[in-house]
Amino acid sequence: MDTPLQDLRKALDDIDAQLLSDLLRREQAVAEISRLKAEGAHGVRDVAREEALLARLAERGRAAGLDPHYVTRLFREILDHSVRHQVEHLADRDNPQRAAQKTLVVGYQGAEGAYSYLAAHRHFGPRGVDVTVRGFDSFLEMLEAVREGAADHAMLPIENTTAGSINEAYDLLARMNLSLVGEEIQKVEHCLLALEEVPLARIHRIYSHPKALDQCTDFLRELRHCHVESYTDTAMAARKVRDDQDLSQAAIASEEAAQLYGLKILRRDLANQRENYTRFVVVAREPVRYDPRIACKTSIIFATRHEEGALLNCLNTLAAHHLNLTKLESRPRPNNAWEYLFYVDFEGNVADAGVQTALQALAAQTNLLKVLGSYPARTTKAAQPAEPRAASSAAGVTARVPATAASPAPPDLLNDLEKKPYKLTSRITRAADSQFRIGNVTVGGAVPVIIAGPCSVESREQIFASAKAVSEAGGHMLRGGCFKPRTSPYAFQGLGYEGLDLLVEAGRQYGLPVVTEVMHPSDLERVAAKADVIQLGARNMQNFSLLKELGSIDRPIVLKRGMMSSIDEWLSAAEYILAHGNQQVILCERGIRTFETATRNTLDLSAVPVARELTHLPIIVDPSHACGTRRWVPAMTRAAIAAGAHGVMVEIHPDPPRAMSDGPQSLTFDEFGELMRGLGAG
Ligand code: PEP
Ligand code: MN
Repeated sequence: MDTPLQDLRKALDDIDAQLLSDLLRREQAVAEISRLKAEGAHGVRDVAREEALLARLAERGRAAGLDPHYVTRLFREILDHSVRHQVEHLADRDNPQRAAQKTLVVGYQGAEGAYSYLAAHRHFGPRGVDVTVRGFDSFLEMLEAVREGAADHAMLPIENTTAGSINEAYDLLARMNLSLVGEEIQKVEHCLLALEEVPLARIHRIYSHPKALDQCTDFLRELRHCHVESYTDTAMAARKVRDDQDLSQAAIASEEAAQLYGLKILRRDLANQRENYTRFVVVAREPVRYDPRIACKTSIIFATRHEEGALLNCLNTLAAHHLNLTKLESRPRPNNAWEYLFYVDFEGNVADAGVQTALQALAAQTNLLKVLGSYPARTTKAAQPAEPRAASSAAGVTARVPATAASPAPPDLLNDLEKKPYKLTSRITRAADSQFRIGNVTVGGAVPVIIAGPCSVESREQIFASAKAVSEAGGHMLRGGCFKPRTSPYAFQGLGYEGLDLLVEAGRQYGLPVVTEVMHPSDLERVAAKADVIQLGARNMQNFSLLKELGSIDRPIVLKRGMMSSIDEWLSAAEYILAHGNQQVILCERGIRTFETATRNTLDLSAVPVARELTHLPIIVDPSHACGTRRWVPAMTRAAIAAGAHGVMVEIHPDPPRAMSDGPQSLTFDEFGELMRGLGAG
């Protein structure tokens, strides 16, 4: 007799079979649409339609009791697959030889389970033909196989978001007469793999590709007792661990390598930088023609003439033809000491007449111009799957930030500005408002940015619940303190790096960039590698050594106004960061000390219009720390936006009375939702 568990499993099997057959039916309908679109003049993608569709599906999911984020993630993947399907259809229509290929041999460098192997499967999966992937020992052997016809394609890694460009790949492309017909992005998620689930203390040797080891130095530093050794590639390292059958060995490789070699995953997410991607180009003997409706990139190589401003003239030629550069790389030009080959990728398709004209103009300015090919882009904005944000809030914040008050500035203001001790921060240096792009969010633009979250990260449940509440109400970023500046040494000091990992994971899950405070220069580099925005707290506004360090990192800074600081002192603190290199400062008014005791601090809202005249930097307002009492936070949020703030930062908490810090000023999720609806969101 079947147990209840077995019965349930059978029921699940039936449901899964149904899901698969529905997915197949969907794919058949997409194929039909692809055919119709190919004949007509329709675009391949309609992003607005995709966004509306995602929003509708998430809403229906929510109404039916499903998590809308889960629904969004699934359907983003399904929509992306459909788009790839349509691109395949057009490419086959325009390239009869391609359409006739029913089997393909695709080369990659490494062993089964290597990231290149995964990229090959990912790229050729939607092609719907029989694909054999073949591992090669080196890039050269792999590309020679393509040139000689032993392989149809090669997956060549060209750059990594952490390690940078792969020089050998560039040099081979210049030397060999091959074409680029595609690109693929592979997320690199390093895991620690071993034979059994043993404690880390029992691991004594770790093997991996040197680039992978470089990307995981923070993790490896914690394992001082381990001997770390370079290996040919990540998957081969995994294979070695399996073959040696030694419980004290481990490899850093992909999750798929663990599956392929029957290893256990001891730890995930080992890389120092959380976003780690490799871009591959797909190499073939002959170019492929892509319909101009497909968002393409074109890769070229050129050598400049020996003329003054030669490189600039070449780039200007591309700009004059409205071609947007996505990559510029230089490599030594073989046999010409101190001369360089330039590699440029731009958005555009050689099938387009405008691109042809631009390339002719460019050829006239160079000693060498080689077009490597045009191929469907995977990294540009036009190629990205629709945003999940559309699903989490049916409508965004409708309130708008007024543009700069007076332009040109009145003479008495210019007079004042000339005398100020800050220069880079001043409107004299830059008249236009500065805007910073953080993930999908723009700070300093017309839409006020809403940052919300708890004062401190307290637990996984607390920060995930908060992230969900922020996202569902239509907020843009997640805040959460991990290193807390507390008046009393006995108060909760924050969860430190453990809290940071939770904050980052919660932000990623809900598509929200994260903001967190750093109090000590020695934490800065490590926090900046994971957090999207670094906050400098009010108590540290004139910590000059910290300000200088903040100037050396490439992360936007939220600079809180010190509670005893004048506007000029605040802008001078910003000047420290700018003067040390980092131009990405967001000023935050959070209340100052006055004789008034009814509120925790006095929110100096007049600082908003005043500072907006003096500086081009975005200004946000934190009403929570100013009021100290949640009841007044909504009114001061609305007032801040009316005064011209580029956004607000408010504290929220799932259960304010139990908050470890700043409970009395934290809004409940319901109160926050209500506030957001008042701003037009949701
Ligand atoms: C905070 O944002 O939690 C904080 C400590 O703010 P402030 O530095 O403005 O007091
Ligand atoms: Mn706080």
